[in-house]
Amino acid sequence: MTDAAVPPAPADEAVSAVALPRHLSPSSAGTFTQCPRRWRFRYVERRPEPPGEAALVGTFSHRVLELLLALEPEQRTVEAARRLARQVWPETTRHPDYRALGLDPDAERGFRWKGWQAVEGLWAVEDPATVAVRDTERRVRAELDGVPFYGVVDRLDDTADGLVVTDYKSGAPPRARYASDKLGQVLLYAAAIAAADGEAPVRVRLLYLGATVIEADADPDAVGGAVGELRATWDALVAAADRDDFPPRPGPLCGWCPHAASCPEGLADLADRWARGVLRADAPAAALVS
Ligand code: SF4
Repeated sequence: MTDAAVPPAPADEAVSAVALPRHLSPSSAGTFTQCPRRWRFRYVERRPEPPGEAALVGTFSHRVLELLLALEPEQRTVEAARRLARQVWPETTRHPDYRALGLDPDAERGFRWKGWQAVEGLWAVEDPATVAVRDTERRVRAELDGVPFYGVVDRLDDTADGLVVTDYKSGAPPRARYASDKLGQVLLYAAAIAAADGEAPVRVRLLYLGATVIEADADPDAVGGAVGELRATWDALVAAADRDDFPPRPGPLCGWCPHAASCPEGLADLADRWARGVLRADAPAAALVS
């Protein structure tokens, strides 16, 4: 169809200055909440955000655990995980994101050690031989309170009480007082699985590999609260897209923003933090102001 053949929009039909995304994932919602301008850089301008070393360690360990949990329960041993890690390692090192890290041999050994620590850390928080896995890496789309949602659930387990949503984390766990704030992502997964499959999960869990488990009942209040926050984020995103108004939200995370060089407000904040001695030297964007 040519442009001339496209019928004009009705006069009363709202047309956003920026096209809305087809769906909102937890990471996209989190980026918008953290900084609307960063969201615009990433999701409207499609500027790349290559994952850093920590994210790639997470990808490596997730893949090994996905394969491990696909085995029969009695086969899910540390030795099997070692074999799977050796199998996954070449996939990891061939990936352009990994190659972009430019690790020297010592740093590569360090990366591999961190990846293995994350995998082995599973046994610190649960015995995988006792888990009844229903699904892994489950892609789920659902409309949640009118919001088109998309997510990838690390693991769905069957338990005596019902279905449980599990998400792996290879980073450090939050301090105790912030622990429950981290459950929004898995509560949204529970809502999406309930909407897509008609079976509501009873519990959600974050497995901080090698460290701890943060978990909660997926009761209607908790799930409804997470969906309400998603809806509020979506409404704010629709309003921003309508006016193409994505303001910067400078803060400590500017140090890890790959678009800081294109953001005057972020650069000013970085310079101020550097001058006050509160910008971490290992923040990648510190090089822009140090
Ligand atoms: S540098 Fe900071 S304010 Fe600017 S886009 Fe990045 S996160 Fe947002």
